[in-house]
Order: sequence, then structure tokens, then C-alpha cells
Amino acid sequence: MNDRFSKLGYVMNPLNRRADLRDQADALKNLRAQKHAGVLVFAGDQSILKREGEALEGLFASHEVSALGTVHATLFLGLHGERPIFAEEIEAEAAERLSTRDDFIVIDTRSIAVQGLLPEALIGPLAEAKALLHWHRKHQFCAACGAPSRVSSAGWKRVCDACTAEHFPRTDPVVIMLAIKGDKCLLGRQSRFLPGMYSCLAGFLEPGETIEAAVRRETLEEAGVRTGAVRYLASQPWPFPASLMIGCLAEALNDDVTIDHTELEDARFFTRDEVRLMLEGTHPEGLLAPQPMAIANAIMKSWALDGGEA
Ligand SMILES: [Zn+2]
Repeated sequence: MNDRFSKLGYVMNPLNRRADLRDQADALKNLRAQKHAGVLVFAGDQSILKREGEALEGLFASHEVSALGTVHATLFLGLHGERPIFAEEIEAEAAERLSTRDDFIVIDTRSIAVQGLLPEALIGPLAEAKALLHWHRKHQFCAACGAPSRVSSAGWKRVCDACTAEHFPRTDPVVIMLAIKGDKCLLGRQSRFLPGMYSCLAGFLEPGETIEAAVRRETLEEAGVRTGAVRYLASQPWPFPASLMIGCLAEALNDDVTIDHTELEDARFFTRDEVRLMLEGTHPEGLLAPQPMAIANAIMKSWALDGGEA
């Protein structure tokens, strides 16, 4: 993986997850009780950060959390060196109450990464916690029998006591690709994008499908472009709510575009020079690339600036 991809938002995660500790209740209790244990705190979907003078701190000491709200779930994320890192969720209503305080800020995971509000080493664990907590919120009941299920294995499993089914957190794979034909690449825009922004096409990988097949299907469905060779570049956790973005380059076999307007507002081929101007923010029509924390930006750079080929 080259530098462009290793520095993307949520990619770097220095935690040793120590799955062997997840079912050792006493060991986890001792880890959480350690003075240097750190806890990421969420109220619903929002992160709570501490203000410390001009700086922001994302990790609370274990004993500080109960003063913020009622803890609904405790997840063990792993060890950062010797330091145990947990995530805890308090009631969603606490977000509003804490946002009026001068000593905290309440903010979403995306803004923390875009604005670089926390050290890089905490951004990956933040994504880990956000995706996992979201899964718990949406999977309170057993999918097999409908009875309430409970958190187990320090947050890495839910168990149904009624039928003994075990449920594991899910990650939703999404292919995101740049189809290229000679000196041109295919970009599209959805109506919800910022005005003038074009990005790589993307779509969910479906059951029974390879990454390559998903790239080819989505490119054909959304833009009518057939593709041949597909090359994997890198991936990025994208906790909105629980995706893994799988970045690829694809060799386009035709360059006439047929847009699926239910998915895209526009799609067309752009020259390498145009993509460079979009990445620099100097395109004469004001067209823009996605923000640098997103894998689409790095895929576009790997083709337009580094000369990557499918
Ligand atoms: Zn059940």
C-alpha cells in the first residue's frame, strides 16, 4: 500500500485487538480499572470530547464516564501499547445536555476526521467503536427468534438466551472504482454531492459476488460502461454506518456513457489533466474532487498523479 492510502481517514489503527481477552471478564475488569485506561465516549451517534485548554482529548479515564450519563454498553477495542482502550455508550439524550457545557464538545465522527481534531492514532479506533456501537443499536433483538439479545464478548458478539443463537457484528463491503480508458477516467456525481463535485462510482458488493464482478456490474449499471481488467488498490473503513470501501482501478472497454438517473445525476469521462485540476481545486468550471480523507480522492490521485493503470 503506498502512502496515499495508508494516511486516509480511519485506515491507521494501532490497537492490538487482543481477541483472546474478550471472554475473560476478570481480566477486562482489571484493565478497565487501570489508571491509564482510556475510554471513547459516545452519546448515540455523537462523540464526546474533553476540552483541555486549547486542546481536545478523546479518551476519558474510566471513572469519569459515569458523570456524563448512564453507560449502556462497554466495548473492549484493544491495547494501544500497554494502554487498554474501551468505548462506552451513554444515552443519546446526553448529547444535547453536554453540548451546552464549556468543558466538552459533542461532535460526529466524520467531522473529527475531516478537521483532524484527534491524534491520527485515535481516528481508526474511533471508526472501530462507531461501527460496532451502531451494530449493537440496530441489533437489539435476535434475528432467529425475535427475543431480546444481549452484549457478549466485550462487545464483539450478541447472544440470544431464548434460542442460544450467536450474532456477530457485520461490515458491509462497498466497491469504489475508477474506470479508465487511455487518458480518460469515468467519474459521476449524485445529486446529494456538493455542487461541482465528481467522484468514483461505487456500490455495495452483493452476496455471491467477487470484488471484480461487483466493480464490473456497478460500472455497467450506473454508467453503461463495460470493464475488463480490475486491479485492487486499497481499502478504507468507512463507519457510516459500517462499510469497508474497496478501492479499485478498472479498464473501461467503451467510453460512451449511459447514465442511470436513479443513481447518478451525471457521469462522464474526464482527461487526466482535468482530474489534476479538480484535485488542485483549480478546474476552470469549478469542478471538484472529493475531500482528501476519502479513498475516492486517493484513487483519483493514484491514477492522475502517480500514473496507476488497471
Ligand atoms: Zn433467539
